[in-house]
Amino acid sequence: MKILVINCGSSSLKYQLIDMNDESVLAKGLVERIGIEGSNLVHKPTGKEEYKEAKVMESHKDAIELVLAALVDKDHGVIASTDEIGAVGHRVLHAGTKYSDSIIVNDDVKKVVRECFDLGPLHNPANLIGIEACEAAMPGTAQVAVFDTAFGMAMPQKAYLYAIPYEYLDKYSLRRYGFHGTSHSFVSKETIKFANLDPEKCKVIVCHLGNGASISASIGGKCVDTSMGLTPLEGLIMGTRSGDIDPTVVQFIANKEGKSVDEVLNILNKKSGVLGISGVSSDFRDIDKACAEGNERAIAARDAFIYRVAKYIGAYTAAMNGVDAIAFTAGVGENNAEYRKLICEYLTFLGVEIDDEANSHRGERVLISTPNSKVKVVAIPTNEELSIARETLALVK
Ligand code: ADP
Repeated sequence: MKILVINCGSSSLKYQLIDMNDESVLAKGLVERIGIEGSNLVHKPTGKEEYKEAKVMESHKDAIELVLAALVDKDHGVIASTDEIGAVGHRVLHAGTKYSDSIIVNDDVKKVVRECFDLGPLHNPANLIGIEACEAAMPGTAQVAVFDTAFGMAMPQKAYLYAIPYEYLDKYSLRRYGFHGTSHSFVSKETIKFANLDPEKCKVIVCHLGNGASISASIGGKCVDTSMGLTPLEGLIMGTRSGDIDPTVVQFIANKEGKSVDEVLNILNKKSGVLGISGVSSDFRDIDKACAEGNERAIAARDAFIYRVAKYIGAYTAAMNGVDAIAFTAGVGENNAEYRKLICEYLTFLGVEIDDEANSHRGERVLISTPNSKVKVVAIPTNEELSIARETLALVK
């Protein structure tokens, strides 16, 4: 079966068409600047030349129509008709407390996605438009919602509660959820297979270190804690997000700088993290270059980022009373051997030992700990699209 994976961001749409017989990617692409001047499509059919089209796209509905047209085009298409698409898997940001698993879309599911607009104001509306546009363009084809919050729903109450008046949980479902769920779910499962761990009992920590960064602890593949909270702002230091912070900082900046709460939150989401500390960039490659040139603020940003990851690994090891494997994934986790090494230097008390030669590999699946290491440490490339496609196939087959 061929499965189309759709990931609608606030003004973008990423897609992949995957042949599930061999999990090969038939085509993938990106639409950017939806609803903004200069919207365009970049379509990459496997084995054919890349195709680009600039076109005014006012909504995600226009974008979906353009993507489907590209997929069936006689020159740069990869299928003869959209009838060949067996199902569509949609990445959906937030399901609140309603769903802890992927689900075939019906009216109730769409209602829940709509009810969660408050919790995911940038993504849930786009996700719903994407679903409805695919329903209109491919009537009768199963649409599956794969929620970014689903993995975190397995967290026990002690991990998801905020210590605030309980009525806010009852009234608004105000609690910790966690994000990057498809990545944490995929990488934890792949780690279990790759490191040959007991699938029922193994204790795994996944460090998803990209521009957005989060960390999860799972036992037997079930999440017991994860670092993002009600929104992706909580937890690790990220490219532009502060991660954990004393909420009084919001009040302090608002009062001193004459800003509203929304404006300060915007600063914590978009102008903080390693960008905020370094003043150099949100991109870790730029941070590294500045570190190599002796830029003290870039070094401070890198050190704080690494320290926070190590601190969370320590906390999650306590949460699980042990850890069998630690996995690194996403842009930094898959590629940056130096960061993996620096993080693991904090973990020698756990008996973690890194093999420098193995750790020199980039962007591939590799065991980077020595045979003597008490904890297996791996780098596993994440693949959120494949994870969504597998979830979709499991529901429709
Ligand atoms: P997101 O999906 O959250 O945008 P990614 O997982 O793509 O983030 O990660 C982006 C980060 O990964 C950037 O900070 C970038 O510097 C870093 N990165 C990507 N590729 C490499 C690489 N080859 N070497 C080092 N860092 C990399």
